[in-house]
Amino acid sequence: MLLLNPGPVTLSARVRQALQGPDLCHREPEFSALQDEIRARLLAVYGLAPAEWTAVLLTGSGTAALEAMLTTLVPRGGHLLVVENGVYGERLARIAELHAIRCTRVTHTWGAALDHARIAAALGADPGITHLAAVHHETTTGRLNDLGPLAALCRRHAVRLLVDAVSSFGGEPIECHTWDLAACAATANKCLHGIPGAAFVVVRRADLAAAAQPPRTLYLDLAGYARAQEAGGTPFTQSVQAFYALAEALRELEDAGGWAVRHAHYRFLARIVRDGLQGLGLEPLLEADASSVVLGAYRLAPGLDYRTLHDGLKARGFVIYAGQGELARTLFRISTMGALTEADMHRLVDAVAALRR
Ligand SMILES: *Cc1c(COP(=O)(O)O)cnc(C)c1O
Repeated sequence: MLLLNPGPVTLSARVRQALQGPDLCHREPEFSALQDEIRARLLAVYGLAPAEWTAVLLTGSGTAALEAMLTTLVPRGGHLLVVENGVYGERLARIAELHAIRCTRVTHTWGAALDHARIAAALGADPGITHLAAVHHETTTGRLNDLGPLAALCRRHAVRLLVDAVSSFGGEPIECHTWDLAACAATANKCLHGIPGAAFVVVRRADLAAAAQPPRTLYLDLAGYARAQEAGGTPFTQSVQAFYALAEALRELEDAGGWAVRHAHYRFLARIVRDGLQGLGLEPLLEADASSVVLGAYRLAPGLDYRTLHDGLKARGFVIYAGQGELARTLFRISTMGALTEADMHRLVDAVAALRR
């Protein structure tokens, strides 16, 4: 079965093999070495200097990393502006609300491009805003939000930028340095090709040093994790097997040539899917240059409901993904993350063609 949903992804044989690593106690030096390697490799993905940045590892899904990032880095008395154009932007605001973090939203229609004029106006209207949170790749629709202009606005207003990079880290360009990010949060089991259970925040040391004290949560206190991990330890039991898989996935990414090569591969696969589906009368939601290379959203056609498409493809060895919320009735999504090949994508298009006949 090939997974074409946006994580967890189809594993390579190499990553699957790594799951068979030896039993390991998280208080032993072998665990420290594993954790150190992952943290160093995560920074190396985008060439970040360890003197300025640190990667903090958590056991949990991508949402755990997002919640840790927001609750740790927005101080008491801080004010967060959340930019929303899909499910995951809404989730960022929901996290802030649940933790009583003062939060203002700039909402957009799901799938719409970010309206930088409205975001600038919101920042100008309230000089008390300290942080801005945005989703890089909004997996709801496949839109890759343009973070360059957003970063420039943040700089102009002296606001720190927090990014949900859960479905872009390792597969899309993330200019942590140029964009002067405070932090970005992501997970092992999307573009990095690991398994679910390990998530992380890449954070600028200066922003972490200014973190909320005392912490808002015990388990998601990023500063506490960072302190323990710098000393080779961990505050709580980590998912050792998920760490084995992530370490191997990061070695595999490096051996393959790094994020830019993976990006080019995803682009190539996405193109096959896009052209193939369009040839069958299934239209993409977004222009190719507005969409990530990680995932594409397509409109269901008359006479082809999601159930039929999903079940027919599953019977042929592919798991696709429905639209979220209101979009469930009109869209389906195909992700090209994971250990997938050109031949897999041609077989997928053939399988859709068989269902269209
Ligand atoms: C997958 C995803 C998440 C988090 O999902 P989890 O199920 O918690 O791993 C968050 N944001 C985006 C953009 C995602 O694609």
